[in-house]
Amino acid sequence: MRIEKIEMFSYQAPLSRPFAFSQWWFTKRSAFLVKIVLENGTEGWGEVYAHVQPSVYAGIIKEVLASIYLGQNVLHMDVLWERAYNRTRDYGQKGMVIHALSGLDIAAWDAAGKLLDQPVSVLLGGRNRERIEAYATGLYRTQTDDLPSALAEEAKDYVSAGFRVMKMKVGYGIDSDIENIRAVRDAAGAAVGLAIDANHAYDSATAISLGRRAHEYNILWFEEPVAPEDKIGYAEVRERQPIPVSGGEAEHTRYGFRDLLQARGVDISQPDLGGMGGISEGRKVVTLAGIFGIRSQPHVWGTAVAMAASLHVISWMPDVPGSANPVEPMLEWDQTEHPVRDLLTDLPSTEMPWVNVPDDPGLGITVNTDRAAKFLIDHSIIGIQDVAGYSSTVEQLH
Ligand code: MG
Repeated sequence: MRIEKIEMFSYQAPLSRPFAFSQWWFTKRSAFLVKIVLENGTEGWGEVYAHVQPSVYAGIIKEVLASIYLGQNVLHMDVLWERAYNRTRDYGQKGMVIHALSGLDIAAWDAAGKLLDQPVSVLLGGRNRERIEAYATGLYRTQTDDLPSALAEEAKDYVSAGFRVMKMKVGYGIDSDIENIRAVRDAAGAAVGLAIDANHAYDSATAISLGRRAHEYNILWFEEPVAPEDKIGYAEVRERQPIPVSGGEAEHTRYGFRDLLQARGVDISQPDLGGMGGISEGRKVVTLAGIFGIRSQPHVWGTAVAMAASLHVISWMPDVPGSANPVEPMLEWDQTEHPVRDLLTDLPSTEMPWVNVPDDPGLGITVNTDRAAKFLIDHSIIGIQDVAGYSSTVEQLH
């Protein structure tokens, strides 16, 4: 079934209360969604991991990627992905081109699932899990004179909401980090799983020092301790402090993950499906990590479209290693303010702390563009007629 049209939706919404992590302050949230429309009217939705000006992705899709996808059979997701990657290889191996491709790919999977009347997880090869435990991502820096106390209150809220695991930000200096970790651990209680995330704020020596000091607070994993380019630094952190190391949300494609895995840089691989290449590439990275004996746990920071893509991939993922009692992958559930997310999509059903993998065809979620219309800053449409001449050089996929 041919792809007839691609629509792109860029959203931006102001926040009622700014928040920060180790790199910058957020005063607004963005979202970029892409809709593929097939010749029979079937629609598929995808999302790009977009926390900068989202309309840049519309430009990349319109000018670069649309001509590869339009007019082609949506069921050939892998072939289309490889064509797009190869066409942009000289200038697009990492970063925004791959982010834009990720959104298109997720939309293709959603459309393919609806066309075949199957959930994406079944198209991937089947469901290992019908529900996934969610952990709370939050505990950012806010405008307060007493951050440890504010974090402690937020941690209690997550426990009250039913979360058993939460992730907090570090990267503000070791002493400050330890003070914050102690406050969250004391407030959450010993039974709660706690992860820390530096968002690559440190060099390896500093990250090693933090890991050694934070270890006494029983930390589940230490996320992005060093810069994504610093694969050797990752390996040093992994070898020289006791907390399991995770990373991957700023990495792209199987080639980027190959380098991280070959360096023995992480204990947990965290591909962001909306940024590292979509579902087609995400399943390859999950498989690749498994070959290295490394488990995966996708990174998610977007609307329910991105959450649903993660739910289906996690549902399909094999245990690494196979066991009657495996360490189960979790769903990252962003708890920070996101006005677009809250209007645009309904969340999958939950039985806290569990989130059910959608059963409906495709991603199994509904997108309500009308509800979020006030935050729409750009809406672009491109159809087969707009790329006439481009695709004539490419063999049609039947
Ligand atoms: Mg992170």
